[in-house]
Amino acid sequence: GNADLECDLVVIGGGPGGYSAAFRAADLGLKVIMVERYATLGGVCLNVGCIPSKALLHVAAVMDEVSHMADLGVDFGAPVVNIDKLRGHKEKVIGKLTGGLAAMAKMRKVTTVRGYGNFVGANHLEVEETSGTAQEKTGSKKVIAFKRAIIAAGSQAVRLPFMPNDPRVVDSTGALALKEVPKRMLILGGGIIGLEMGTVYSTLGARLDVVEMMDGLMQGADRDLVKIWQKMNAKRFDNIMLKTKTVSARALPEGIEVTFAAMEEGEAGGNASVAAPAPQVYDLVLQAVGRTPNGKKISAEKAGVAVTDRGFINVDIQMRTNVPHIFAIGDIVGQPMLAHKAVHEAHVAAEVIAGELQGNKELAAAAFNARVIPSVAYTDPEVAWVGLTEDQAKAQGIKVKKGLFPWTASGRAIANGRDEGVTKLLFDDSPEAHGHGKILGGGMVGTHAGDMIGEIALAIEMGADAVDIGKTIHPHPTLGESIGMAAEIAHGSCTDVP
Ligand code: FAD
Repeated sequence: GNADLECDLVVIGGGPGGYSAAFRAADLGLKVIMVERYATLGGVCLNVGCIPSKALLHVAAVMDEVSHMADLGVDFGAPVVNIDKLRGHKEKVIGKLTGGLAAMAKMRKVTTVRGYGNFVGANHLEVEETSGTAQEKTGSKKVIAFKRAIIAAGSQAVRLPFMPNDPRVVDSTGALALKEVPKRMLILGGGIIGLEMGTVYSTLGARLDVVEMMDGLMQGADRDLVKIWQKMNAKRFDNIMLKTKTVSARALPEGIEVTFAAMEEGEAGGNASVAAPAPQVYDLVLQAVGRTPNGKKISAEKAGVAVTDRGFINVDIQMRTNVPHIFAIGDIVGQPMLAHKAVHEAHVAAEVIAGELQGNKELAAAAFNARVIPSVAYTDPEVAWVGLTEDQAKAQGIKVKKGLFPWTASGRAIANGRDEGVTKLLFDDSPEAHGHGKILGGGMVGTHAGDMIGEIALAIEMGADAVDIGKTIHPHPTLGESIGMAAEIAHGSCTDVP
């Protein structure tokens, strides 16, 4: 035909969604082409998201820990930061992972085409080839004919329209580039991404301000957990501006001057009684006010795929768009915009497609039916939550039995010198549960909380009750024991905790 390449499945985007779908489909025997505009695979997550942020957060956490060690009898002295070397370390981490992905694609005989993909019909994608480290177009084009397509084109940071075009105004990608450490830094948006980057910069020496429209930082997490995080992190901030929005900004020689306004009654988080803070000048402004999907940039209409006004692509539980042979996964299909969600959706789409093309009914029936998707702020301490939160239970009138285990009673947390944490489990306490309700949700604040939240997710998926979790022997002394203890507290079989 009129195509340069043909395949069973074309995947648009090489992020966690795209490469997971491509790999699963190839493992299931399909001929797969993956299209990615950038030089490396891995998408936002590996190149400018999850991984580089954690490489820097690890270093920050070690620095913070070391700074307390003098109190414990070992003084390391003041840290000497070599920012070029630190950046180099982060680049090496990225390189290892993206290089690994390229090798895995090759091993699985997934063809990767480097370029910008746009639909030109219901079964054809045109790729404008790119080269170099950015996305410089080479001028050459390739048309790929496909039986099925998966759209995994991801998202990008929202830019406030009034922000000046200035190197001192960055999004998360610019912040991860780690050019220098500012004296005064403003974080626009008190969500996970902003607070993680703020943690890195403040440990490296920056003073932080944060501005958030809602009435609290880290929306989504229970307030009692966030309060503990905030107490531990108060020293990083000069000013936490809640119920406040940013209304204008201008570039001055001495910095970026930002003007604020109180949210008004009726607006989200609004409260007319709060006065707006005075304008401030910053050396660095990080825009972390959310991410917008790339749905409008792939000529989806040429394939008949519906895209919402905001750029999302709606899908069913099999990840199918309104066009039956075209699927979509990851950030582009909606919240939560998280890599582990994208990966699971990818596997569903790849299995459905392989099942359909190969007449395998069982595979073709695959669906995204996860009960819960965990969230983690990899700050210090970490905040992690999954399933129903206590605030949601209250708002929705769901009766829950709570087990709250304070880490002041954890031998390991005390030995670590970090007993500020808590572990909270919530069990169904409706009359139908007859006192043996299943776990509905859980949250933790404390060191390594993110590494432990998976156990609570598993308990929810398995329909565990408090006895199941409480009678599971957890190793002693570990922070993970706190999950078993919280379950015992909820069940009423443990009373020896303060
Ligand atoms: P993406 O990773 O965005 O990948 C999409 C890919 O498609 C990109 O590589 C893009 O270049 C390519 N593409 C787009 N359009 C085209 C086109 N037309 N042609 C060719 N290629 C195209 N999530 C977590 O779970 N944990 C974390 O700790 C975490 N930390 C984060 C930290 C930061 C700073 C940021 C910004 C995000 C973080 N996330 C985290 C979110 C996570 O990165 C995303 O949820 C995840 O990358 C989404 O995967 P995806 O495959 O949907 O899209």
